[in-house]
Amino acid sequence: MKHTLVIVGAGLAGLSAALTAVKNGWTVKLVSSLASERAQSVMAEGGINAALNTKGEEDSPEQHYADTLTAACGLADPNAVWGMMQAAPELVRSFLEKILAPKQERTMNVQQKNRKRGQDVEL
Ligand SMILES: Cc1cc2nc3c(=O)[nH]c(=O)nc-3n(C[C@H](O)[C@H](O)[C@H](O)COP(=O)(O)OP(=O)(O)OC[C@H]3O[C@@H](n4cnc5c(N)ncnc54)[C@H](O)[C@@H]3O)c2cc1C
Repeated sequence: MKHTLVIVGAGLAGLSAALTAVKNGWTVKLVSSLASERAQSVMAEGGINAALNTKGEEDSPEQHYADTLTAACGLADPNAVWGMMQAAPELVRSFLEKILAPKQERTMNVQQKNRKRGQDVEL
């Protein structure tokens, strides 16, 4: 019997999960209270954090984890943050390789200089 995967939410998380599932042979039903255009994902404008250590700045997922918990003032779930920080470098690299053109990747490196809340490593 062929199973159908039901994914709730059509923001970046839901769409990303749906794409991955379809690539792996699943049939997917995406259920969402609002269209993707109304998701919070559309509002993100300031970039994405991941400890890539591209310039030997001694950044690491462990440092990113500590910075994020500090910035969250005790409100973040440490287990969720730990998992996200461990996965972030590979996800961002894969995003850069597969989706962005090399020119945009260079632009992204320049934008890394604008430090965001929770970013403690000098670039
Ligand atoms: C103004 C703003 C700026 C931001 N800037 C940044 C940034 O610069 N960098 C960054 O990394 N992050 C930023 N964020 C945070 C980022 O947008 C979110 O963390 C991210 O988009 C969450 O993605 P998601 O797919 O989990 O959730 P969402 O994009 O919120 O998607 C949730 C989906 O679930 C659906 N849904 C919700 N409840 C139900 C329900 N009960 N039943 C069915 N469907 C439901 C919604 O309709 C939606 O489609 C920003 C957020 C905001 C609001």
